[in-house]
Amino acid sequence: MTLLMANWKMQGEGGLAHHLLGALKDLTVEGCEVAVMVPFPYLARAQSILEGSSIAWGAQAVHAQSVGAFTGCVSASMLAEFGCRYVLVGHSERRIECGEDAAAVAQQALQVIRSGMVPVICVGESLAARTAGESDQVVSAQVQSILTVFESAGLTAISCIWAYEPVWAIGAGQAATPQQAAQMHAHIRSLLSHSVLEFSSKCRMIYGGSVNEDNLASFLAESEIEGVLVGGASLNSEQFSNMVAVCMG
Ligand code: PEP
Repeated sequence: MTLLMANWKMQGEGGLAHHLLGALKDLTVEGCEVAVMVPFPYLARAQSILEGSSIAWGAQAVHAQSVGAFTGCVSASMLAEFGCRYVLVGHSERRIECGEDAAAVAQQALQVIRSGMVPVICVGESLAARTAGESDQVVSAQVQSILTVFESAGLTAISCIWAYEPVWAIGAGQAATPQQAAQMHAHIRSLLSHSVLEFSSKCRMIYGGSVNEDNLASFLAESEIEGVLVGGASLNSEQFSNMVAVCMG
């Protein structure tokens, strides 16, 4: 089932969160899944407004440890208490702005799984890597570092979402082509198929980077693309509801 996931990033203040959550709650969703990743302070509001609706919610970050003296951080079990279904890990803005390295991202994904939620594991190459023809190698290394940690943690069947988000397409107004995204999805799938881990059929592959109501259909036309992660365009309730309509076909 196609997944349409909104990522508000650090936005939602001044009543915007309330407005957007209210608009989401009223949506009719059939034949696709819609989720919204809100800033931590709005999780309780997302839970109270969206509970019982067809919209799932989640968080944009999580700490790599389960508990401890980590001022300002939030653990996976705390997020689970607020009814989160999904948690983003490895978003390039956190890798770059917050210095979260591959080891931290893998531990975060593990914490999310252990707390009964689904990690949305973001991977993607920089513009320099794409220009140098190194996209596959960069993404392979990112995926492999996760698989290695999952394997050594003794996980067997895993349900997760892989979000291919080329750094050069995020917030750029210029998306990757659907073909570029589909090629990378196929590459990630092939990496997963060589893993000793059994990835359940719930493991989905989504694309993120400047998706909007105009280009969404072209991404969904690719069989390898099972959904999208949407930043900027998810902050406009009208545009987002048009995107839900596109996903519903
Ligand atoms: C994102 O940050 O996950 C994202 C996809 O952003 P945008 O849609 O604004 O490019």
